[in-house]
Formats: sequence, C-alpha cells, structure tokens
Amino acid sequence: MDNEKRCQNKRLFSTEIEARKERLYVEKEYNKKFRIYNCNDCNGWHFSTIN
Ligand SMILES: [Zn+2]
Repeated sequence: MDNEKRCQNKRLFSTEIEARKERLYVEKEYNKKFRIYNCNDCNGWHFSTIN
C-alpha cells in the first residue's frame, strides 16, 4: 500500500549506472554479492543480496 515509504528503507538510485558504481563499494564493504533491480514501486533501482 505505502510503497514509497517501504522504498525509503532501501538504498535508492535513479539510474542503473549509479547503482553499479555504488555496488563496487558495498560488495567490498559487506563482502557479499548484490543484485541490482529496477523497482516497480518507485521506478528507481535498489540492491538485493544474493545468497
Ligand atoms: Zn523502490
């Protein structure tokens, strides 16, 4: 229902390129792999972790 608020709890990027750049840093920081996906709720880009 309140999709915009739900998205505020995640890292949000306006472009895929921006998300890809940031992913390099967070993968090092957390020592994990992250997937980038286009969000249908806010039309932005978020990370999700890969298990
Ligand atoms: Zn979103």
